[in-house]
Amino acid sequence: MIQLLDQNTINKIAAGEVIERPASIVKELVENSIDAKSTAITVDIKDGGILSIRITDNGIGIEPLDIKNAFLRHSTSKIRTIDDLKSVSSLGFRGEALASIASISQVELITKTINNLTGIRYIIEGGVEKRIEEIGCPEGSTFVINNMFYNTPVRKNFLKSSSTEAGYISELINRLALGNPQISFKFINNNQVKLYTSGNGLLKDCIVTIYGKEIGKNLIDLDYSSNDFKIKGFISKPVISRANRNYENYYINGRYIKSKVIQKAIEDAYKSKLTIHQYPFTAFNIEILSDYIDVNVHPTKMDIRFNNEEKVYEEIYNAISRALNKTELIPVVTFNDNKERPIQTIRESIPEPFEINRISELHPVKEFVATDEVAPTDNQEGVQIDYKDEIFTSPENIIEHKIIGQLFTTYWIVELKDKYYIIDQHAAHERVLYDKIIKSLENKEIFSQILLQPIIIELSMQEKSRFDSHRLLFKELGFDIEDFGEDSIALRGAPFIFNKPINPKDFINILDKLDLEYKEEKYGILLDEIASMACKAAVKANDNMSILEYKELINQLLTLENPFNCPHGRPTIIAMTRYELEKKFKRIQ
Ligand code: ADP
Ligand code: MG
Repeated sequence: MIQLLDQNTINKIAAGEVIERPASIVKELVENSIDAKSTAITVDIKDGGILSIRITDNGIGIEPLDIKNAFLRHSTSKIRTIDDLKSVSSLGFRGEALASIASISQVELITKTINNLTGIRYIIEGGVEKRIEEIGCPEGSTFVINNMFYNTPVRKNFLKSSSTEAGYISELINRLALGNPQISFKFINNNQVKLYTSGNGLLKDCIVTIYGKEIGKNLIDLDYSSNDFKIKGFISKPVISRANRNYENYYINGRYIKSKVIQKAIEDAYKSKLTIHQYPFTAFNIEILSDYIDVNVHPTKMDIRFNNEEKVYEEIYNAISRALNKTELIPVVTFNDNKERPIQTIRESIPEPFEINRISELHPVKEFVATDEVAPTDNQEGVQIDYKDEIFTSPENIIEHKIIGQLFTTYWIVELKDKYYIIDQHAAHERVLYDKIIKSLENKEIFSQILLQPIIIELSMQEKSRFDSHRLLFKELGFDIEDFGEDSIALRGAPFIFNKPINPKDFINILDKLDLEYKEEKYGILLDEIASMACKAAVKANDNMSILEYKELINQLLTLENPFNCPHGRPTIIAMTRYELEKKFKRIQ
């Protein structure tokens, strides 16, 4: 028998689309508060928002007669007809958030407008109205959402740990605060104030409050306008970079969005200034006509599409590269002496510019330009495998090969029969160390070394919950870490890889690679990260290589499964033929 669903059931189903987790509720309610012209918004959550979310604003409030309607599906004060959709500037206009939220939780609303002497308290649970009464209260609205998904336990099971859910909310509020510096945001998690922005309208102050002084000191002003585009905000100097894209924030007409086109424009503009897989900090707003935006995208989805992607790319690329190019970017090297400080705080103590130099030294740009002067047999990998069979595997050949010498303190030149080989000692060394470390990590042979002084690392809430989800993994890998206050951690021991423990800046880098939730496949990534980092450090320390060391290196290299590429894919050995040389000197035709 076919039956019509009742409205409450429809709402519950619809809630599934909009309300996925506590952060979705916070998003809808805070956007409503912003639309209601609030200048101060407080978000107070318990147990990751699963137990309760309280959102208080000082906005225009809701008229008593509108309250019940506000909780009906497709009820909105923001648009009247389909035509309004085009010009709508508010954040939400589908009129389904309150209906959806009320259908899957227990809601209490207290609200008052300027025109009324008293306010109203309204209680609705599982979509069923429980109570409506007058109450004394200030202007504005307070929504309390208790026990989310209490009547849909299956959905509740899909929620993650409180700390993960709180991490999502924290990330969301950071973005909302960054997009609205004129509003004072307060975020309280389990009775602790996590974020409190001043609402003074200055984006820079907002950035410092959320991301800290280090970033504040390294910002470049972005202020660009062309016919159709106004791009305003801040981007970071390249010394501030992260191993993930979490710090790339951008807004379209005040709304936080994600866009592959914008992401690419940003990263292309920074391309020559950042090492691979490092991403900048950005926080800027793009003001454009709504004609540019493809409206056929689900409104809760943050991914936005444009009607003229090339134009959007070009404008953003131009804005950022111009800003970057007119700023002096030569890093100043500082010496870091922490000896006198009892504990270090990572964010302050790591001299970023030094880090940059180190990285660029380690990745010499070596381009292999294939020209017609190079014999076809020299075209790298495929052929190199043969060389192994031909020469290196046989013991007599190893003895026989004649070391000609070292070039540019990096390349070893070796002669054998009718070929000569050029070996990149850095790449070779990295290969050898990498394999060693991976092996010992896999065999759980990594030793942890107790640090003389614990290192305190300040994490953002989100980084902390990412760490929490992977806590066991870190332990397995030889990290000894304890909580230190709410979001900081104390690094007491670190994996001792080769001749020194892994460095704490690298620890943050590893954290950047992880998701908020634990994922099995991340284990491999983690191993790879740790190994590459340890390698870099060790290779750097071994710049001057004697012939003896070279021999030892070559012996070790040749026992490996893949001696021909470093872990980053660059070749370790290339070969040239005598024939080729003789051709060059026109000894043969
Ligand atoms: P929408 O935001 O799409 O209009 P919602 O279900 O989120 O739909 O909200 C319904 C209506 O309730 C809004 O249009 C607005 O009139 C009113 N409303 C919701 N939250 C607030 C608030 N914090 N302050 C004032 N009015 C609000
Ligand atoms: Mg809304």
